[in-house]
Amino acid sequence: MVKYKIIFDREGCIGALACAGVAEEYWIPAEDGKVDLKGATFNEETKKWELIVGEEAIDVNKVAVDVCPVQVIIIEKIED
Ligand code: SF4
Repeated sequence: MVKYKIIFDREGCIGALACAGVAEEYWIPAEDGKVDLKGATFNEETKKWELIVGEEAIDVNKVAVDVCPVQVIIIEKIED
């Protein structure tokens, strides 16, 4: 089954909340004005947050990628 990795550079997030507006089940507004990617883990090497998801999560998160004004969300396909 094909999996995807959502990669979130939280450092660069400006808290526009556009992602939360289109994919509220994944992008949760946080107390510091930015968002958290629900269930994501922090990659110490890249300093980015990562979440592995299936096909069902992709359509809505591709919209989040498109609406983010500072392009801090990336989706990568993971080969299985
Ligand atoms: S749309 Fe981009 S900048 Fe705005 S809260 Fe989401 S990740 Fe951060």
